[in-house]
Amino acid sequence: MDLDLKDCVIIVTGGASGIGEAITRACLDEGAIAVVVSRVSENVDHFLEEMRQQNRPCDFFEADLADTEQCRLAVEHVRQKYGRIDGLVNNAGANDGVGLESGDPARFLASLQQNLVHYYAMAHYALPMLKESRGAIVNISSKVALTGQGGTSAYAAAKGAQLALTREWAAELLPFGIRVNSVLPAEVLTPLYKRWLETHDDPAATLKAITERIPFGHRMTHGSEIAAMTVFLLSSKQSSHTTAQHLVVDGGYTHLDRALT
Ligand code: NAP
Repeated sequence: MDLDLKDCVIIVTGGASGIGEAITRACLDEGAIAVVVSRVSENVDHFLEEMRQQNRPCDFFEADLADTEQCRLAVEHVRQKYGRIDGLVNNAGANDGVGLESGDPARFLASLQQNLVHYYAMAHYALPMLKESRGAIVNISSKVALTGQGGTSAYAAAKGAQLALTREWAAELLPFGIRVNSVLPAEVLTPLYKRWLETHDDPAATLKAITERIPFGHRMTHGSEIAAMTVFLLSSKQSSHTTAQHLVVDGGYTHLDRALT
């Protein structure tokens, strides 16, 4: 299937680690120019070095997305260098466990800054160029938005708001031919997920217990499976009539009866 993403400029926040990295790779495989906007880490350096060695069109803009001015500068970098944006993938975030009882209002707000406000800021600043290209936005949310998890009020609020914003922006941007969709992962073995597993007494046993409850194949979702859905949604050629959707890519974890064997 030709997604017609060749030479399209696609921003992927947090696009050098985990799910974002898989999305960046999928965009590059489709011939797009990927612009990763992220903090740096050893992980990120390693990925970018691989991209450099392979001479792939993967640009990088270092930013702490919690700072909305840095979001503006990231988009401005893309405007000056490429003059266009065809797709925005809002992906960066982390389940930071700011609970109702365990958290407090200041930490709740700080978490929204880390997980939610930059989704709005990036879309806001990218909008003039998305209007010109009749581009697409994909928001990476989480099954936590639908199921809750306990002990993570701020993350759940951010992920739920991303679904609401997906519908709201899909409505507002209809006149400009901009499609807006969201993808909801549940269990993907990323660096973030591994760090969370390490907080358990027996990480291997925890992982086994979780994967056994995933109905389709009793396995974790691969980052590439989230990425495949995302590049499809970015493709104005192939997902040309798909907007305002919440796509749950999770092996049936959220919607099927977990008692199924
Ligand atoms: P990951 O492995 O930590 O990758 C995320 C990348 O984004 C990291 O490089 C991270 O930097 C960066 N980042 C995060 N917040 C940032 C910020 N404020 N400014 C700049 N960079 C930032 O995480 P992941 O598991 O791939 O998660 C990606 C998305 O999928 C998140 O929105 C997450 O909520 C969602 N999700 C994941 C799962 C799962 O099972 N993994 C399930 C449901 C939803 P640092 O390494 O410095 O933090």
